[in-house]
Amino acid sequence: MHEDRRQDGIANSNGNGVSLIDVEGLSVDFPVGTGTFFSRSRTVVHAVDDVSLTIYKGECLGLVGESGSGKTTLGRAILRLQQATQGRVRYGGEAMDEMRGRDLRNLRRKMQIIFQDPYSSLDPRMSAGAIIGEGITIHKLATDRAAYSERVAELLQMVGLNPEMARRFPHEFSGGQRQRIGIARALAVEPDFIVCDEQVSALDVSIQAQILSLLTNLQADLGLTYLFVAHDLSVVRHISDRVAVMYLGRIVEVAKSADLYRNPLHPYTYALISGIPVPDPRIEAQRQRVVLGGEPANPANPPSGCHFHPRCPFATEQCAVEKPELREIDSSRLVSCHRAEELVLEGV
Ligand code: SF4
Repeated sequence: MHEDRRQDGIANSNGNGVSLIDVEGLSVDFPVGTGTFFSRSRTVVHAVDDVSLTIYKGECLGLVGESGSGKTTLGRAILRLQQATQGRVRYGGEAMDEMRGRDLRNLRRKMQIIFQDPYSSLDPRMSAGAIIGEGITIHKLATDRAAYSERVAELLQMVGLNPEMARRFPHEFSGGQRQRIGIARALAVEPDFIVCDEQVSALDVSIQAQILSLLTNLQADLGLTYLFVAHDLSVVRHISDRVAVMYLGRIVEVAKSADLYRNPLHPYTYALISGIPVPDPRIEAQRQRVVLGGEPANPANPPSGCHFHPRCPFATEQCAVEKPELREIDSSRLVSCHRAEELVLEGV
């Protein structure tokens, strides 16, 4: 790990400013077929478009955007579960694409992912104990059978489940409990970094809160670093130290969580925040809502200039022709908008 403030210009709120992961100019393209049987042509979707980002050791970085924004693809490309078309990812300063053999296997163990729907990723024929213990066996992390069983019991307890439950099968658990099994499975291999991919989206609000609280406690206890991918800004608000907002494959704003919600600088962030309900009905009645026109554009044929310009209430002629770079507005903020300094946007 190395000191690095290049990409985001900011340290995480834990204050160490040590980068764990550096994403450098990462692009992921998907070829898609179009046309008829007789006139078949290939076109390319830029799911991730030249993204640079630093994730600091010990922080939780929220990654937010609508469906099709490329956030899940970016999370998977960071883990090398998805091949990048261009750019690279460094882990602790080491280029991941240059790693081979044991180094790569060790790295894969250090980087884990927890999925939105753990049910589909939990083998229904395996007991919870076997699911959690699989990684312990593969990576030879227990010296003998007794140490293995002890570790599985410990992991179940860490995620708030009774060790007796090790013998049960996935269908015998609730959705929230299955999420806990997914978390225990990820923790079993002693990771440093976890991508939580839309992890609580399918759960009802009270269970969501319990899982988020569990993740926060585990982060503090184990010194974990998270990339928390979600389509809903309200979900990432309390768990994230910083938030990165994605639109059509590009990062449009990165800021400390409190700053982003209080004072959004990009019109897209502003629109997402304006959609979050405020509990106080008097404040809620006075708030300005930004209703975005239309759906996000087709990633296979994105708009020119600023991708957001056809939906942006503040767009000018310049926006339609000139791509806004992601630039540092102050020591803790990156924004890609030509008008970031002049717009006055209301937060929550
Ligand atoms: Fe809107 Fe223009 Fe800023 Fe894009 S660059 S977000 S279109 S004001």
